[in-house]
Amino acid sequence: NGPKLTLDNINEAVEVHFPLCIKSIHEILRKNHHLKYDCKMQYGIFLKCSGFEYEDAMVFWRDEFTQKMDTEQYDKKYLYLFKHQYGKVGSRLDYKPYSCQQIQSWSPGPLQHHGCPFKHWDIDKVLKRCENDGLNNENVGFIRNYMREGKYAEACTTYFSASHRIFKENLIESPNQYFEESCKTEG
Ligand code: SF4
Repeated sequence: NGPKLTLDNINEAVEVHFPLCIKSIHEILRKNHHLKYDCKMQYGIFLKCSGFEYEDAMVFWRDEFTQKMDTEQYDKKYLYLFKHQYGKVGSRLDYKPYSCQQIQSWSPGPLQHHGCPFKHWDIDKVLKRCENDGLNNENVGFIRNYMREGKYAEACTTYFSASHRIFKENLIESPNQYFEESCKTEG
């Protein structure tokens, strides 16, 4: 059995085990109590594929969104998508994790926050974020070079290695793989 995300451990998991794409969406959700459609999909599918239970997801999204609107409005406008992500309504799809390649093929606009930071953010914004997250100059330099070369998986893998102070050989291929491998480092 893989790692299990729950309402109780999600705040801790964000800090330690979430890749930068999901971590940054989470921070926007906590700040704005709202997310646009693509962020809701990127984050919601990540959660579902990380073993976050349907019941927990219903509480998680409702608690955030209803800080800015009443429950009735939330139920009417937003609840459906989160149920849909768990295959409870509509086409009842069983969503699989998004791959980094898929995510990197998206084209977020200036006011949108989905996507891959290593592909879609300004280099300076990423480097500043890495410094704030405690990465040393050497690793920040590696990430700068990888981003310039368009090697986004290598940049993300360096972020992983630096955050966990281990050497990670295989490349990151999806946010969910990042999460699972990160949980294993706690061993
Ligand atoms: Fe997320 Fe993948 Fe980009 Fe890493 S490389 S930040 S896991 S999309």
